[in-house]
Amino acid sequence: MKILVVNAGSSSLKFSVFEGLELTLISNGIVDKIGKPGGRITVKVYKGTKFGKHIEIGNAVDHHHAFIKIVKQLKDQYIRVIQDVSEIIAIGHRVVHGGEYYRDPQRITKELIKQVKKMKSIAPLHNPKNLTCIEICKRMFPKALQVAVFDTSFHQTMPPRAFRYAIPDRFYKKDGIRVYGMHGTSHKYVAEAAAAYLGKPLSETNLITVHLGNGCSMAAIQNGICIDTSMGMSPMPGLIMGTRSGDIDPSIIFYLYRNSRLKIDEIESMLNNESGLQGLTGMNDLRDILSSMEKGDEDATLAMEMYTYRIKKYIGAFMAVIGRTDAIVFTAGVGENSWFVRSRAVEGLEHLGVSLDDDKNKSHEKGILMLQADESKVKILRVPTNEELEIARSTIEVLNKMQ
Ligand code: ADP
Repeated sequence: MKILVVNAGSSSLKFSVFEGLELTLISNGIVDKIGKPGGRITVKVYKGTKFGKHIEIGNAVDHHHAFIKIVKQLKDQYIRVIQDVSEIIAIGHRVVHGGEYYRDPQRITKELIKQVKKMKSIAPLHNPKNLTCIEICKRMFPKALQVAVFDTSFHQTMPPRAFRYAIPDRFYKKDGIRVYGMHGTSHKYVAEAAAAYLGKPLSETNLITVHLGNGCSMAAIQNGICIDTSMGMSPMPGLIMGTRSGDIDPSIIFYLYRNSRLKIDEIESMLNNESGLQGLTGMNDLRDILSSMEKGDEDATLAMEMYTYRIKKYIGAFMAVIGRTDAIVFTAGVGENSWFVRSRAVEGLEHLGVSLDDDKNKSHEKGILMLQADESKVKILRVPTNEELEIARSTIEVLNKMQ
């Protein structure tokens, strides 16, 4: 039994293949810069003698082309991750926006596709690509069960006081304008892993999960359920991100629209793709920014101050709303790897019972790590996220419900 997990971005496609009920990862890979110069396809195999092999197989002109190349590689007689597409019995798709309709992973039906298409206006950048990949997979894997796992589902437990915007009621009731939150699959995975690590039932655990990748978001989790989050109707608000601004005064958009020659789509693209760390420093990879900062670059220094200050501000706010805080959990590329970001984000929070142990924070040990000082009331954890595994688990759940 093999499960394929598909995570499609606007110009990238990540995939993983899991085997057996224990969901052993046997292959994964990424196609990046789809349809752009400099793109490449990398497939890694974690099975048999080809363990850890990396294969780069050129560019892909579009998502369909990317899938054809991936499947060709997986079937390659040298690699043999699959011998035939029929071995894939289910495919779990990350779907960014499930709106208010979907609190749980769902079997993909015509009705579901109709609903996801309806949400195109509130998720214009992601949902269309997710739908493209679902259509391609239906054609290429006709016998496989297709499952949608929504980034928004985990946040559907938020109460109205957290998810409503204070704008006229009709915009919520008619247009669905509200906070949805994203990265739910990652927040859910690390929350479960953190509670298990702490030896507490998730339903009795209060956590602040801090997902810092290219996109960044936080969740306030009380008794195992999400009660607030830093992103909003879209992934733009909240923390400062690789290329997104995070929170800004909405009147900046009107100002720019009226006073610059930018069209509304260009302003949207500027806030999504040219802002955040990229806008402040001209770089969006945190490693480059940290190394510039070490060389004394003032823009990089300010950007890191702003980036970590914003995280701290949300930690304070979320501690206030969840009450007793069992742990602050850092995850994703930056959260798992940057001791500097973790250290600055919680610096000065000793009065709230949060203190890091510097040596533990700088440890290179793999897996889940506890980073707080002995006197810290709040635990500080580094938990590697695994969105693909969480999607595979959800896919199995849907599969089991159908049997
Ligand atoms: P996404 O899945 O959102 O594309 P990731 O979770 O892979 O992103 O995180 C990417 C970010 O993680 C990049 O900004 C990268 O610089 C940062 N990152 C990765 N490794 C390190 C490291 N060792 N130190 C600091 N930042 C890192």
